[in-house]
This record gives sequence, C-alpha cells and structure tokens, in this order.
Amino acid sequence: MAKHLLFVALLGHGHVNPTLPLVEELVRRGHRVDYATSAEHADAVIRSGAHWVELPPVERIAPPTEFGPETFGVFMRHLFGAMRAGYPVLRDHCTAEPVDAICYDMMNWSARIVAEQLGLPAVRLIPNFASNETFSLFSEFLKGPGGENPLPAVLGPGCAEFAAEYGVALDPANLLDVTEKVNLVFIPREFQPAGDSFDERFHFVGPALGSREDEPWSPPDPEAPVLFISLGTVFNDRPDFYRTCIEAFADEPYHVAMSIGELDPAALGPIPPSFDVRARFPQPAVLQRATAFVSHTGMNSTMEALYFGVGLIAVPQMPEQAANAGRVVELGLGEQLDARTVTAGSLRAAVARVANDPAVRENLARMRKVVRESGGAARGADVVEEYLR
Ligand code: UDP
Repeated sequence: MAKHLLFVALLGHGHVNPTLPLVEELVRRGHRVDYATSAEHADAVIRSGAHWVELPPVERIAPPTEFGPETFGVFMRHLFGAMRAGYPVLRDHCTAEPVDAICYDMMNWSARIVAEQLGLPAVRLIPNFASNETFSLFSEFLKGPGGENPLPAVLGPGCAEFAAEYGVALDPANLLDVTEKVNLVFIPREFQPAGDSFDERFHFVGPALGSREDEPWSPPDPEAPVLFISLGTVFNDRPDFYRTCIEAFADEPYHVAMSIGELDPAALGPIPPSFDVRARFPQPAVLQRATAFVSHTGMNSTMEALYFGVGLIAVPQMPEQAANAGRVVELGLGEQLDARTVTAGSLRAAVARVANDPAVRENLARMRKVVRESGGAARGADVVEEYLR
C-alpha cells in the first residue's frame, strides 16, 4: 500500500545527495514523499519527485581550517541551533499531515524527537561511517584532551534550553548516535570499520547515484586521461591547495577537471589550458571518465569514486574525512597525503602510483563490484517498505 513519508535533511550536499535516489525509487513505487530541507536543496528534492517542506535557512559560518576543540564546539553549536530551528516546522507538518513514517538524516536529531513524540516509525539515514558499541566515528575524533566526550559541555546548555521550551529532555552526549529499529547506511558493509559487529538493524545498502549518473559531461579530447580534483562542498576554501594542483599537473598529459566551490578562480593565477576550473562539476559523470581522483574523501565522494572504480588520492581537510581516508588506505584503494605538507611533487607521484599500481587496480575492481552489489536505492526502498508493512 502506498505510504506517505517525510524525509528530513536540513543541510549539506553530502547529506541530501545520497537520499535522492532513494526518494526517486520510493516515488516510482507510488509512495508520496515530503522532503523537509532548506531552500538551497529545494530544486534537487523536487526533481527527485518529492514535495518540498521548507525548513528555516541556515546561516553560513566559515568552516574551521583547523579542527581543534574550540572550533569543533562552535561548529557543533551552530548545527545544533539549525536543527533546533527546524523542530517546530517538522512537528507542525506531521501534526497537520497524515505521515506514516519519518526518514531522517542522522544529523537531524529534531526529526527523531518528532517521530518519538508522535509515535511514528522512524528510519535513520547514515551517509558516513555508522557507529555502535564496537566502533564510534565520533569517539574517533571528538575526544577531549583528557579523553572525555566534549559534547555535554558543548551542547549541554542548548539541550537544557530546548527542554525548558518544549518539555523534551535531550541527552547531549548521545544526540546523534541513537540507533533506530531501521538504519540505512549508504556505504557497503565491507567499507565500514568493524562491519561484522553491526546487528540486523543496520542495512548497508551502499551508495546510489540515481539520475545523477546520467548528467552530461565529457572531456574536450575523448582520448585524454582525466584527473578529477575536488575538496567537496564544505571545507573547500583552499586556494593554496588548488595552486599546488596547478603546479603539479600543468605539464602532465591529464585533462584536469578541478572543482573549487565558491572561490574566485582569479585567486589561482593563470589557469593552464589542460585545466577546466569550475565551481561545481556533475561529479558522477566526471568520475565515470576519470583515471584518478584527488579528493578530500568526504564519504559521498569516496563512495562515488569506488562506484566507478576510481583510485583516490586523499587529502582530508577535517577529522571525519581523515577517518575515511584511513579506511581507503587500509583497503588498498588509494593513498593519503597530509594537507599541511602536500607539495606538487608528492601529489604528482601519488597520482602516478595510484593510477598505475596493479594491486590498487585489483582492489578497486573488487570494491567496485562490492559497492554495486550492496543494493543501493532499490534495496533501501525494499527495507523501508518491509518495515512499514
Ligand atoms: N559534488 C558535485 N560536484 C562537485 C563537488 C561535489 O556534484 O563539483 C557532490 C559530490 O558528488 C557529493 C557531494 O557533492 O555527492 C559532496 O559530498 P561529500 O560527502 O563528498 O563531501 P562534503 O561536501 O560533504 O564535504
């Protein structure tokens, strides 16, 4: 029977993108999907077939360049405030509309609270490493100087205010790590550290690209090997790094597609003819043609690369990306360079090794198969339907 679902992912291409093929699939199967997100993602969710529910805009803050305890606190408080502002909108929507379930991105704790309050089934959507008692992504990089969890200090006051205003107690230590009965993880189990320790509530459906795979892109010379460079959509204001890339590959035989976000290309000096520098590329389409990917290893970029069997040269910009990079190296799918010490020479050498090493090619071919056999959007939709039956 057709269901009425509310998806919630307030912000972040890396959080919205992996949910869109699932929405496309559910709509194709006849379900109605409302999608609560900020205006920035409205077009994308409408294109996927959902009805857009507007969440209050999120003020942009510059992402920190160094991820120390203080900048982490500022960032987490900002995210907390953004999610909190969405709470009354979500609650009112679900009170006014006969929603059968809420599928929410794991950052969106206010959606979990609404589901709990209204007794609605909830599906948690995880676009990064999942956490359980054996492996915790947050404890990988969030431990304070004495090893203690910094979240209670950072989010305690906000949680207390929320409790006072709405009469709902929140646990700041554990705000984002509440396991639902059904948790969809957009990576294959093989990529997840301690993958075998996750119980039947976790469904590792892997990435799905949906209609994004069909976006048009081709290099000017179809014979030229393609190198793709991107630091993603958040921690990407890194002109020095892009200049290093220009120095490294200006005289190499690659056609280089380099995504630089909102940065002004004039800040990079002269752009060599072999470089195409843009704010944004249709990434899956570029990766389909790419020989190697110099990447921040955000999880979506990592999964999209592995979906096409493209080797990664990881230059992580923050701790979560470094955790992904560590796993890439551990599984022999690429190499990692330190963003603070990377040079044109080290970058060029790493790209050459990743592009040509037969062992890396073999690991990539294997992982490409694993990724494609994880089930993607179709399996995700099966899991949701089964849960709501
Ligand atoms: N992306 C894109 N074009 C670009 C840069 C990024 O389509 O030029 C997409 C990319 O395909 C991925 C998302 O933006 O789906 C970035 O997510 P990721 O988790 O890799 O990193 P984040 O941006 O969250 O740091």
